[in-house]
Amino acid sequence: MEAILTAPLLRRAGIRHGFTTRACGDVGESLAGWEGSSGLAAGRLLRLQQVHGSDVVVIDADNRERLLSVPPPADAAATALAGPVLSVRTADCVPVLLADPGRRVVAVAHAGWRGTLSGVLARLVAVLQEKFSCNPEELLAVMGPSIRPCCYQVGDDVFLPFRERFGSEAVMLAGSSQRVDLQAANRLVLTECGVPVENIAAVDLCTCCSSGFFSYRRQGRLAGRQLAFIAL
Ligand SMILES: [Zn+2]
Repeated sequence: MEAILTAPLLRRAGIRHGFTTRACGDVGESLAGWEGSSGLAAGRLLRLQQVHGSDVVVIDADNRERLLSVPPPADAAATALAGPVLSVRTADCVPVLLADPGRRVVAVAHAGWRGTLSGVLARLVAVLQEKFSCNPEELLAVMGPSIRPCCYQVGDDVFLPFRERFGSEAVMLAGSSQRVDLQAANRLVLTECGVPVENIAAVDLCTCCSSGFFSYRRQGRLAGRQLAFIAL
């Protein structure tokens, strides 16, 4: 597998982005593989603490230095600055990249099951509308490699709230095994926000049953992390 996967939807728009695979190494440990493959410098990378919440941080000229040196406690970020590379680290959760090519704004979100239920993507789209006057109809969104229903067996604590919130599109039963489709749930959140379905793409690869990725479900606490990144 290639070291970095990209999406045609964002490539066509000329937006620099990617999703690392295991070939880039564990980005929680070292960014050298990512630097070598992407040609980008780690010093430009905006990292987030990723607390499984729905807070959004906006990086601008005033806070740029501080945010680049101290990762803020947030699960989503947006910027209109050229330079900073927005990123999230994942091992099964859904990384989501957003771009408004016309207004020159990019954004990123980390959506695990908690973040998906707490509406992190809806909060992010709202911030893009309020702070940057983005029109949801012009946003492009790409969801990266994440755990898919083939492997995402969950208990009542996850299954029931997903069925309640998203209905049959995001939950399924395989025999008596309860499964959740995190990408389908986040696709629903995006369309509810007004993002056209044709502007939403996904890398439909399962981090758990493809050995090309790190997976928390497959490898447990020692699992490495993939990086999803986007920049102007
Ligand atoms: Zn799988």
